[in-house]
Amino acid sequence: MKLVSIVVPCYNEQEVLPLFYDEIIRVTNDMKSEFPELDFEFLFVNDGSKDRTLEIFRELADKDKRVRYISFSRNFGKESGMYAGLKNSKGDYVVVMDADLQHPPAFLPEMYRYVRNGEYDCATTRRVSRKGESKIRSWFAMKFYQIMNKISQTEIVDGAQDFRFMTRQMVDSILSMSEYNRFSKGIFSWVGFNVKYIEYENVERAAGTTAWSFWGLFKYSLEGIMAFSTAPLAISSLLGVITCIIAFIAIIATVVKTLVFGEDVSGYPTTLCVILLFSGIQLFCTGILGQYLSKTYLETKGRPIYIAKETDEIYRNKKAEASETDAQDNTGDSASE
Ligand code: UDP
Ligand code: MG
Repeated sequence: MKLVSIVVPCYNEQEVLPLFYDEIIRVTNDMKSEFPELDFEFLFVNDGSKDRTLEIFRELADKDKRVRYISFSRNFGKESGMYAGLKNSKGDYVVVMDADLQHPPAFLPEMYRYVRNGEYDCATTRRVSRKGESKIRSWFAMKFYQIMNKISQTEIVDGAQDFRFMTRQMVDSILSMSEYNRFSKGIFSWVGFNVKYIEYENVERAAGTTAWSFWGLFKYSLEGIMAFSTAPLAISSLLGVITCIIAFIAIIATVVKTLVFGEDVSGYPTTLCVILLFSGIQLFCTGILGQYLSKTYLETKGRPIYIAKETDEIYRNKKAEASETDAQDNTGDSASE
């Protein structure tokens, strides 16, 4: 038998979770009849939701023993959610997918077919349209992929997603990258392996709202660039070299001019402009350096990527204990009667 772990990071997904659960059960039941060798576990991660997400997990765990969950002590972000899910998954294959049905479970049988015979180590989807997304957002996304692929050795495929069907070997490789600043799109690509891209049209969220603001995505893209490229550092050194050359030429020109034409006191505005320009460039470059330094600082602290407050195991044990004490109380009551 082969176990497939389905990992689902969730943040405030109370509206869509019941729909997701019904759909994934329908698809996995179909898969079981097509591929009798498969077993499934569903590993939900509650990323510090403020709604009923955790209660829904408990209800699902009550009615389905294949449902497992991890609940974080606060919101750690989707990257941490995926990491926790991968780390705690037990399957020979692991699927990572969103809860909002934007990653249609109907793709799972096709993905499995690619991975099953060992030809591919990972099957993933690639959306070829960004239907339902604002124009500005799509434009920034396009620019991000262009810049990223120009300045980083790690290729990041435009439209590739965190919807992946992976072998245990690939999952273990991903887990071996224990960095704190996690940028999954880069990590998935950095580890290599044979990846099959299945193209599809973008689907909109089934219910609920996206947790990503435009600003949040922008910051995330900068994180991505810093995590997988040191080009900004090289660019700042290059800027330094260019300005040094300009300054050197200017010095010679000034000396020659002074020797030939003598010195006059004019030139105050130009001096001011030059000082302002160069101190600006200096601060900008120091800023880039600072960004990398701060990332290094966070990495060296070695903080955990997530903190779990509750898991299905804790919940199930508690329940079992409670029902045991209940049973004891009952027998105690009847004995005293
Ligand atoms: N998510 C999460 N933690 C967060 C934000 C999002 O675990 O801090 C989950 C969310 O519940 C969903 C997935 O990540 O399952 C994708 O989020 P969303 O649909 O909001 O993003 P989008 O599809 O717009 O990129
Ligand atoms: Mg979504």
